[in-house]
Amino acid sequence: MTHNPVIGRFAPSPTGPLHFGSLIAAVASYVDARAAGGQWHLRIDDVDQTRCQPGAAADIQATLEAFGLHWDGPVQTQDGNRSRYQAVLETLIAAGRAYPCGCTRREVAAVGREGPAGMIYPGTCRAGLPSGREARSWRFRTEPGEWVIEDRHCPAITVNVYRDIGDFILLRGDGLHAYHLAMAIDDAELGVTDVVRGGDLRAATAPQVTLQHALGLSTPRYLHLPIALDARGRKLSKTNQAPAVDPTHPAPSLLAALTFLGQAPPSSLHQASPLEILDWATANWATHQIPAVTA
Ligand code: GLU
Repeated sequence: MTHNPVIGRFAPSPTGPLHFGSLIAAVASYVDARAAGGQWHLRIDDVDQTRCQPGAAADIQATLEAFGLHWDGPVQTQDGNRSRYQAVLETLIAAGRAYPCGCTRREVAAVGREGPAGMIYPGTCRAGLPSGREARSWRFRTEPGEWVIEDRHCPAITVNVYRDIGDFILLRGDGLHAYHLAMAIDDAELGVTDVVRGGDLRAATAPQVTLQHALGLSTPRYLHLPIALDARGRKLSKTNQAPAVDPTHPAPSLLAALTFLGQAPPSSLHQASPLEILDWATANWATHQIPAVTA
């Protein structure tokens, strides 16, 4: 019997230094791949250039190295893959699965319904651009039907992408390719078999899966993680000024990340090096011990 090798990845957006919330995703995706004898890649998710901070990608890489989280192969960037996104968008256009949209964000907000993953596009330009309108963006033409989204850790969810998410953006009004398109292409190009990431991205999974399907790409397994909150109960994020993890003292944060993931590292590891801690975590990785995703 042959098994496909496991390929995992960590895909931070370079919007600031690595904080504890992103460290959890880095550690979990790393240990999950290594525990299966697989590869672990680093991709810098810089498709949305408007959110990137100068120097953040280099800072994240240096921090991962300091934590002993060494990746395989070259670092990928989304910025370096734009011509590929455009080529794939053109195949979707040719296949009738993408259409131009002339609506502004404000117009969509005024008439759209609020859905679980943001505003649901009301379909104004789906049958063709209204006369006098110019294309601002390109949207994916979703199709009626339900999708069952499986997860290695969370209960499966059934999502009607057509009804509850609607025709989402593939190319934005500012000329940048959208996150869902980049994600579906990048994960497939890296041959990712297992996506391990924060539970806040669960809602992004269904649109990504429908795109993979439309593009004839295989769907990886997903494992969504519980989300770390700050003292005020808000998700740790760069927007909420979550403090950066300290690359000069990696062991305490590593142990805290593993504890957050329910892995109960023994106290004998308190004086250990990052590599020893990661080796222990890899040998003892137990996904069933990860706390439930509540959000
Ligand atoms: N770039 C995303 C973030 O930093 C993660 C994307 C993913 O893991 O699929 O939140």
